[in-house]
Amino acid sequence: MAAVKVLSGARVVLPTGVVEGGRVIVDGTRIAGSAPGSAERVDLTGHWVVPGFVDMHVHGGGGASFTNGTVEDVLKGIHTHRLHGTTTMVASTVTGEMDFLAQRAGLLSELVEQGDLAGIHFEGPFISPCRKGAHSEDLLRHPDPAEVRKLMDAARGTAKMFTLATELPGGLDSVRLLAEHGVIAAIGHTDATYEQTVEAIDAGASVATHLYNAMPALGHRAPGPIAALLEDERITVELINDGTHLHPASLELAFHHKGADRVAFITDAMDAAGFGDGLYHLGPLEVEVKEGVARLVEGGSIAGSTLTLDRAFRRAVTVDDLAVEDAVRALSANPARLLGVYDRVGSLEPGKDADLVVLDEAFALKGVMRRGEWIVAPALG
Ligand SMILES: [Zn+2]
Repeated sequence: MAAVKVLSGARVVLPTGVVEGGRVIVDGTRIAGSAPGSAERVDLTGHWVVPGFVDMHVHGGGGASFTNGTVEDVLKGIHTHRLHGTTTMVASTVTGEMDFLAQRAGLLSELVEQGDLAGIHFEGPFISPCRKGAHSEDLLRHPDPAEVRKLMDAARGTAKMFTLATELPGGLDSVRLLAEHGVIAAIGHTDATYEQTVEAIDAGASVATHLYNAMPALGHRAPGPIAALLEDERITVELINDGTHLHPASLELAFHHKGADRVAFITDAMDAAGFGDGLYHLGPLEVEVKEGVARLVEGGSIAGSTLTLDRAFRRAVTVDDLAVEDAVRALSANPARLLGVYDRVGSLEPGKDADLVVLDEAFALKGVMRRGEWIVAPALG
């Protein structure tokens, strides 16, 4: 018989709001509605309990890359993010040769099938050379539905998202193909105009890949993609809340337009997340990480982040003054809904996986539970 644990005394963030002195009952791998008298009690007075974080855009961590690493490396990267509260994540790849990406899709899809990943996100090669960021220019190509299809097939049903420059030839047809198959078409690394962005949304695009980054800035005569992505309620915007990628006022602007249900905090993390400064690779490109900021050795473009979602959360509530419930939505429920896994994760409700994060009053991470098991056990005095 599985042990039942009752986590009590904490401020618990539920979909309906914050409950003071609430409790979460964990029965085996799931959250339960009631507990027997014999259940083990865990006193979390003075702490917050929030749903496990969901990262829909992450390239690696712990020194390991999802694009290049072995299965063991990928698992190490996953584990690193789990230690920081991310209990559900997709693996994002960066631009590479088509055959290479198809081969990666095969490897990563096995980790999806065994429950370690929630899916694959292909970021590139179908992006704009004008907004390439840390992607190899010589490997970029126009979004061709046949090639998108090839990667979807290689991922055997585990492809969850493609980031596309939808203004390129084949862009809109690719968006339609993805939407038809229930795969997220995300607009990003794009040089689209406002009008072209509206067209892509009408064709079925539903996510803005790291809004503001790798796209034209908001202009008063040429509002560009940002205005279209902010104003259309069919779009959820990703934000990298690390203090480097985004000014706090830009974050506030996004929440003002989108509301708390259409923002997803992501890490866009590369290998150095949870690891340290030094020289790394992002796909085939060399990256130097200095004081936690990753930049291409050649050209100096920002090359992903070293963010973990516990830091994104703490920043959101302590620097950006976001309500805890709103930050929790952006970190858990919203990405879980987009990825089609909200029936299992993304909120603390009976029947769902017991995935949760324990934080102290200063929002420092103290515990992480995934499927009923402590990944980080809270040290309680
Ligand atoms: Zn990325």
